This record gives sequence, structure tokens and C-alpha cells, in this order.
Amino acid sequence: MNVRAAVLYEARKPLVIEQVEVEAPKAGEVRVRWMAAGVCHSDYHAMSGDLPARTPIVLGHEGAGVVDAVGPGVTSVQTGDHVVSVWKYSCGACEHCRSGWGRVCPVSVRMRAEGSLADGTCRFRKDGRAVHHHLGVSTFCEASVVAERSVLKIREEMPFDKAAVVSCAVVTGVGAVINGAQARPGESVVIFGVGGVGLNAVQGAALVNADPIIAVDLVDGKLATAKKFGATHLINAATEDPVARVREMTRGLGAHYAIEAIGLPAVALQAFDCVRAGGTVVMVGLSAAQATAAIPTIPLVTQEKKLAGSTYGSSDPRDLVPRLIDLSLAGKLNLDDLLSRSYRLDQINEAYDALLKGEVARSVIAFAR
Ligand code: ZN
Ligand code: ZN
Repeated sequence: MNVRAAVLYEARKPLVIEQVEVEAPKAGEVRVRWMAAGVCHSDYHAMSGDLPARTPIVLGHEGAGVVDAVGPGVTSVQTGDHVVSVWKYSCGACEHCRSGWGRVCPVSVRMRAEGSLADGTCRFRKDGRAVHHHLGVSTFCEASVVAERSVLKIREEMPFDKAAVVSCAVVTGVGAVINGAQARPGESVVIFGVGGVGLNAVQGAALVNADPIIAVDLVDGKLATAKKFGATHLINAATEDPVARVREMTRGLGAHYAIEAIGLPAVALQAFDCVRAGGTVVMVGLSAAQATAAIPTIPLVTQEKKLAGSTYGSSDPRDLVPRLIDLSLAGKLNLDDLLSRSYRLDQINEAYDALLKGEVARSVIAFAR
């Protein structure tokens, strides 16, 4: 089958919209017709060259669509099911997977490095040459073949565009607060960077009744949006010192938790300085591959500050994503203010330009049918 896809041939060059061939699903695999794909900053790291990727590659990891073919032996989904992508493959058999840490499964790490499905091969071809997969899913195309374990069945009432962003930005941001930080009612949370993930960290803090919920960004428009998601205090770090301001807002103590949703070492240090004794910094944003942050070790020890990483909302997506979709359908999750714009696949380079300019909270590629 031939489908339209956005292909990255070389870092720092625009994505090329063209036809690629998708092979039929093999045993344990399904073909998904994507209906919506989230325009996420993580994919941009491959486009900019900050994180290495095998090329040519079809990027995109946040997706929602319909299963339209299944390979032999598939049991968890069938043709016609609505699904979202699970962008970290878990083999289900290794020590990490068996102990509930499927999100750090080494098979997923290998798939990212090789740009392949779990068996090390690709299902996309162009002019006889393999085109690589991104995180085993690749959603910037009309359809892709993925492992059965790389999709998760969702409720059919859930709109595809909202489901796509729940599968990454929402689960990552909300999960960083409720699972990563494990914030409790009345505890203070400061969120650095209120893009797609950061806004959902604000939303996660609101869900657990944290207070105050302090949003820090450089763009006033994004801070105004953070207020709609439950931020009680706003700091524009372009004009104010966030460390001093957070201390003022927390009786001089600092916040219980700081969420770093940007991925900049300098911001990680600010986040570290913002948390109180016993407080925790949760690092969510992806930085360039070789980035390091010099953390002051005396306060780490004497004030028992903690530094934690968080991926996939520190959750099992098969647990948290369906719960978030239930919350959304119950009207208890703000996704309307998250979805700023919808683009066609052939406008994807424009969508990334808007993301980099800070014009959008989250946009999606909507596939015409
Ligand atoms: Zn595993
Ligand atoms: Zn994402």
C-alpha cells in the first residue's frame, strides 16, 4: 500500500511530503490509519540534529487512528478499533518490564537507535530502500505498520485529535506531577516551561489540588494560557528572577516540587534552586544528546533535595492513558485550550515553525479522509 508521509532525509532540512510504500503487517503487527498526529517538540530534536536519528525516517510519535489490518496472532486489537500510539515499546519479558518499568525497556532504546520495529527491520520503503520508523510508531503519515504492543485501544467516543495529544503531552505532563513528583493537596508546584507538556503539568497540579501552582515561561501569551489550566501565579523569567519570586510565593521556603519541562541545563539549575529543603525537581524536558547540568552538591546533601527524571509521566501508559481519556470524556480535563491549531500533513513544516515561535500550545496534523 502507498501512503503519503512526511520524510526527514537530513537534519536541518524541511520534511519532504511524498508517497512511501507500507508493507503488510507481519505476525504480531497491525496497520493503523492515523487520523490525527500531535506536533510535539520531541520530534523536532531529530529534525534539528540535537538527537541522532537514522534517516530517511518518518517521524511522529503522538497518534490516534483506526486499525485497518492485523497480522497473524494479534489478540489485543482488531480491525476497526480506535487506538493511540504507545511510543515506548515494552517487550513485556525483560526484568524492567516484569517489574512495572516497561517505559525504560531496553528494546525501545534499541528501536530508537536503529529506527526500526522490534525485530530490527522496517515496514516503509521508498524506491526499494528502507525508510526508518520513529519510536516504533511513525505517525507523520497516513498509515504505518506497528507492533501490536505499540498501540492501545481507546473508547470510540474520544475525538482523535484529543486522543493523540493525551497519548504524549497530557500523559507526560500530568504524570510528571501525579506519579513523578507525587504531589499532594496543598503542596506547592512550580512548572518551568508551559508548552504542551508544561501546561499539562499545570493541569496535573490542579487535578491534585496543589497550591500554589506557579508557571514560569518567557512568553506572556503562554503564561496566560497556563492560567486557564489552573496556574495560580505567573512568572515571566525574561523580566523577573524566578528563584527569588518562587521563594516570595512560598513563604521564603521554596516549592515542594519543580517540574522542568524545557530541557535546558540552566533552567534545571533554577528549578533546583527553587525547591525547598526536602523538595524534588522532576526533569521532563529533553535536552540535546550531550547536555549536562552542574548541580550544587552541598544543598543536595544537606537539604536533602531530590532530582528525578520522568519519562512517559512515570506511568504505565496502558494504565494512565485510558484514565485520562475517561477524565476528558467526563469533562474533567482541559483539552480544548490545549489544541490551538490543526494542520494538513503538507503543512507540517509550517506547524513546526509555529511551535518554535511559541505561537501554539499544541497543534495536530489532521488527516483528511
Ligand atoms: Zn522489556
Ligand atoms: Zn510527544
